[in-house]
Order: sequence, then structure tokens, then C-alpha cells
Amino acid sequence: MLVILRPDASTSDRDRVVALIELLGFGARVIEGTQRDAVAVVGNDGRIDAARFSALPGVDDVLQITRPYRMVSREWRAEPTVVSLPGGRSIGGPELLIVAGPCSVESEAQIFATARAVLAAGAGALRAGAFKPRTSPYAFQGLGAEGLALLAAVRRETGLLIVTEAMDEEGLEQVAEVADIVQIGARNMQNYALLKRAGRAGKPVLLKRGMSAGLADLLLSAEYVLSEGNPDVILCERGIRGADPSTRNLLDLSAIPAVKSLSHLPIMADPSHGTGKRALVPAMARAAVAAGADGLLIEVHVNPAEALSDGAQSLYPEQFALLMDEIRGIAGVIGRGVP
Ligand code: PEP
Ligand code: MN
Repeated sequence: MLVILRPDASTSDRDRVVALIELLGFGARVIEGTQRDAVAVVGNDGRIDAARFSALPGVDDVLQITRPYRMVSREWRAEPTVVSLPGGRSIGGPELLIVAGPCSVESEAQIFATARAVLAAGAGALRAGAFKPRTSPYAFQGLGAEGLALLAAVRRETGLLIVTEAMDEEGLEQVAEVADIVQIGARNMQNYALLKRAGRAGKPVLLKRGMSAGLADLLLSAEYVLSEGNPDVILCERGIRGADPSTRNLLDLSAIPAVKSLSHLPIMADPSHGTGKRALVPAMARAAVAAGADGLLIEVHVNPAEALSDGAQSLYPEQFALLMDEIRGIAGVIGRGVP
């Protein structure tokens, strides 16, 4: 960290900065300039709060040099993290994890039919929400515990891994009993109490990027989970708020290689919420695989016209099966595969 002093800062302003750095247990090195001085913090491991310095008299600016996150960074761990999953599956290695399913569990018939269809097409995991974070309180909120029981029954019959969302701290344990991967949604990316609880859940966590979150925000949220003792975090790019209403969100494909250069954690892409439109999903799914995504999250429904949530962005099973073939081809070209 570099504390930049104002041109009119006094010697005592400078001494106060040096004293605070030393009080915090770090070394201070004064850099004298022609117009202004700066004080460098030596030995900062990323845990100093810049606000402690920006509030001092005579301080103009504070530049972060060390990245604010630690355990999620490439400096902490150079090798990519491979999250092991039940049934010999994994994400983060050469094999992609394709997660598919309806937005919500709606009924026994709907979830079983969709699960069988995505399994037949080659998906490795079923994703469906029992607890749904809906923008409107009057929209379908999910089947709750009944939905979780249906998901458990689907796993027994099909062997598909189950990915499902925990919306709050109270519900997390209940969800973690059934889920093979606990999803934390975009709206909860900065729910730090929930993230800490997920860090103690004993299950891998799928952490979706908040709609207005920068990559450092996403990685700091992942850091909460790791710092509570859970190394198994899978990040997910699901689109951020864009300028044009013709897509639901702006799927930030460049976040995939950017996150990979900053972090060892696997990252998947969700072109369904990223675009909001069925017709746009296959192209963005193919592009995400080409960009290096470790997996995909694709909404698929046996009858999208009657879906209780996100029908407009849900693929028909036949479209999903075709997409799986295309993804296999693209994965092969970049030295990866789909199990
Ligand atoms: C979802 O995955 O169904 C969902 C609600 O996604 P997000 O949290 O990305 O909006
Ligand atoms: Mn959805």
C-alpha cells in the first residue's frame, strides 16, 4: 500500500502516517518527491484497511498494491483448484461439468422428466431451485422442503449430482443435507453471514457473481467461504447489468480468463441468466466453453411455455442435446472434454 501525501502536508502529517503504519506492525518507507511525499507500507499482507489512512490529515490518496484477497489468489496457490464431487466427478480439471435443469422444482412429474432428459443428453448435474429469490414477492417462491425432497428422489433414481440454492442462513443446513453443491445466488453474493455459514457447510459452494459486482468483489466473497475452512468454491459468471434491454444481463465472457489469471478457483458460465432469451443461450454457451469456462449452467425445461419461472430462457430438451454435441466438439479443440 502506498499512502500519497498532499503537496501541503506538514512534517507532522507525514510522521503521523509513519507512526500508524508502525503501530499496525508494518514497516514504513518515506519516498520524497519534488512536489509531494508518499509513504510505502512494507510487509502488507493485504489486511490493512486503507480507510485508516485516507481519514488522516495531509493524506491525498491511498493506493492498494497488494490484492485485497489472499487464499483465492494465484499467488496463494499457483495450480488450478479441482473441486472433487461425488461419483468421481469434478470441476476445474480438463473435464467440464455441465449443470442443467429447470429454474425451479415445480412438481414431481416436471423435475423427473427434465432430469431424465438432461441426463440422457450428458449433463453431470441437475440444477433446480427449491427456494427461489424472486424479484417480486408475488412470484412463485419455490416448493421449499417439498422441492428438496423431490431433488433427493431424483438423485436416487438418476445418479445426477444436485445443485440447489440456499437463500438464507437458517435454510442453509437444510439445503446442504440434499445438495451436492450449494448455490449462492447473485442477489446474495455479498450476504457475508450466509457466505461464512457456507464456509462451514461441508459441501462445495457455487457462488454466482452479483449483478453489479466487480471481479475483486466476487473474489472477496469467495474469500469469506475459504477463510471459514471450505476450499471448494466454484465461481459463476451469470451476467451483469448492461445498457441494452435486448438481453436480460450482459454476459461478461472476459471475466472467465480474467478470473483465471487472478484466481485458482474454477469458474463456470450461466448463459441462461446471462441472456434471458432461449435463442441466445446456445451461442453464448459455446463461446463460454471456448473462453475457458470450467463448466456451464443451462436452464432446461420439458415444457418451457408452462414454467413457473424463467421459461423464456429455458432450452427445450432437444436444443440442450444438440448443444451438448456442439460443446463436446469445442471442448475437444481446446484440449478439454465432457465426461
Ligand atoms: C438461478 O440460478 O436460478 C438464479 C436465480 O440465478 P441468479 O442468482 O444468477 O440470478
Ligand atoms: Mn432461473
